[in-house]
Amino acid sequence: MKYDYLIVGSGLFGAVFAHEAASKGKKCLVIDKRNNIAGNIYTAEEHGINVHKYGAHIFHTSDRKVWDYVNEFAEFNNFINAPVAKYGDELYNLPFNMNTFSKMWGIQTPEEARKIIDEQKKDGFKENPENLEEQAISLVGKDIYEKLIKGYTQKQWGRKCTELPAFIIKRLPVRFTFDNNYFNDRYQGIPVGGYTKLVENMLKGIDVKLGVTYKDFIAGTDDTFDKVIYTGPVDEYFDFRLGTLEYRSLRFEEEYMPDCDNFQGNAAVNYTSADVPYTRIIEHKHFEFGKGDGTVITREYPSEWKPGDEPYYPVNNDRNNSLYEQYKALADEEKNVIFGGRLGVYKYFDMDKVIASALETAEKELA
Ligand code: UDP
Repeated sequence: MKYDYLIVGSGLFGAVFAHEAASKGKKCLVIDKRNNIAGNIYTAEEHGINVHKYGAHIFHTSDRKVWDYVNEFAEFNNFINAPVAKYGDELYNLPFNMNTFSKMWGIQTPEEARKIIDEQKKDGFKENPENLEEQAISLVGKDIYEKLIKGYTQKQWGRKCTELPAFIIKRLPVRFTFDNNYFNDRYQGIPVGGYTKLVENMLKGIDVKLGVTYKDFIAGTDDTFDKVIYTGPVDEYFDFRLGTLEYRSLRFEEEYMPDCDNFQGNAAVNYTSADVPYTRIIEHKHFEFGKGDGTVITREYPSEWKPGDEPYYPVNNDRNNSLYEQYKALADEEKNVIFGGRLGVYKYFDMDKVIASALETAEKELA
């Protein structure tokens, strides 16, 4: 068979590109090393509950074009992410907002909160914070840094907060209003029926082969392809010849509780102290307002990544970013391969940014 595009990886980048190319009459084959489509947004229905098998995904965007686009493939519910942080037996609302400040310090007004934060960030204040610790303290002060950020972040990334880039913590809003919405974006929700359905709809009518790696597939096929869209790890594509980019990996421990209707009262509870080994517990039924029999929860344990493990988060520090630049130079020389997605361009992308970048790539490529 002669294809225009071989798309390696059926996650969001691959699925969006494939959909766009197919709708322009291009012949596409999508392959994936897993036995399921949808990459890390894969959901599976268990006991009437859509379980996020590779970690919780909440869709949010301010990009109208992206929002309209995803709504072509699924209906979105009106879920708003409002996680709770648990430190010892204290519970706090996230993101950092007046509910958090009020619980932490027993205060009531934005002015009181600002005063405490200003006081707490005085020590070692930097105009331009150089690492995550400096950035966190300058945003929310020492108390919140110590209780809600330090332990969680060190578990999540396996590195000290002083060795991590500041931008990671700037993902979270800090608000002086009583607003527990974790995101500032205009649009937010969960696809009704799960993310797998959404990706399935994107891939409708497109050839898909599962359970095969890129290299094995290429070695064993007679099919031909004009171009490859590669969404796997860029360093793996080049056989790690310049060294390995670092990732953080995750281990998910799932538990079904047939006799429990509501385990924690919220989709996400973050365990922010260093002495609990997992970072969060997800209770999946709450993404869809509680339907299902019993409940399914997942404990999320961060872990160090080594080749062969599932890479989840790129670790975008100076060492890795400059190694990536070298891989990027190699990638630019591969004239018939386009690299994309979180792993292909080694960037801590949110879903909406992946879609935007796939649409942009498709627009250029298919013009
Ligand atoms: N974070 C934290 N405490 C929390 C939640 C998040 O310190 O309870 C920090 C942590 O450094 C994390 C970053 O904020 O890596 C970004 O969190 P986000 O929820 O965006 O991460 P993701 O959902 O992508 O894992």
